[in-house]
Amino acid sequence: MIDASSKISQILFPPACALCGADARKHLICQACEDDLPWHDGLQCPVCAIPTGTGEICGHCLLSPPAFDATRALLAYQFPVSAVLQCYKYAGFLAVAHMMAALFVNKLGDAALPDVIVPMPLHATRLKERGFNQAVEIGRLLARRLRVPFEPAHAKRTRHTTPQAGLAFKERHRNVRGVFAFEPHIAGKNIVLLDDIMTTGASLNALAQAAKKAGAARVECWVMARTLPE
Ligand SMILES: [Zn+2]
Ligand SMILES: [Zn+2]
Repeated sequence: MIDASSKISQILFPPACALCGADARKHLICQACEDDLPWHDGLQCPVCAIPTGTGEICGHCLLSPPAFDATRALLAYQFPVSAVLQCYKYAGFLAVAHMMAALFVNKLGDAALPDVIVPMPLHATRLKERGFNQAVEIGRLLARRLRVPFEPAHAKRTRHTTPQAGLAFKERHRNVRGVFAFEPHIAGKNIVLLDDIMTTGASLNALAQAAKKAGAARVECWVMARTLPE
């Protein structure tokens, strides 16, 4: 599936930059557009990656600590990242997954690597609708580049839920509570949960809870884009 879709992406995304049309030297976007991306690099909460201005743990994480231990976010979820990720998620432009994986590897530098990367699972019904899992494709490419085991089968969604995007922030935690199950293979391991976008963190928190329940030693979230508070 990846190969066929990559070919389609090459047809839809010729060697010109997908954002400005300049020569992108076979990359999805040109160097100037890459430099201009809204990188999520400022001082931020080490737990949930929300900008804090000090780099200290944010009030929300102090008051109700999430089940995950840390979050790394590549980009801020704003234009043009939002448009690029929507093309990827809803139109299946897999070239975006290659770009995100490459950029994320650069961001990691020589950071410590996890024992295993597990992508945010999609329910079978949603997978059938969309045809692919956006977190799986990015995770697979990223894990290959980092030479870290990639285990999409380690986590499962036990029931179909309303899409988080259609819910108020407060309802999102309730919507995903107890919805994930983890294989016990991860006991004692440092794991990374991978997703494309982190908004409230409700889904990642519920997934991290399941991972901790199954015995994970440390859980870090890696996301391509972080929604910033208004
Ligand atoms: Zn460009
Ligand atoms: Zn926080």
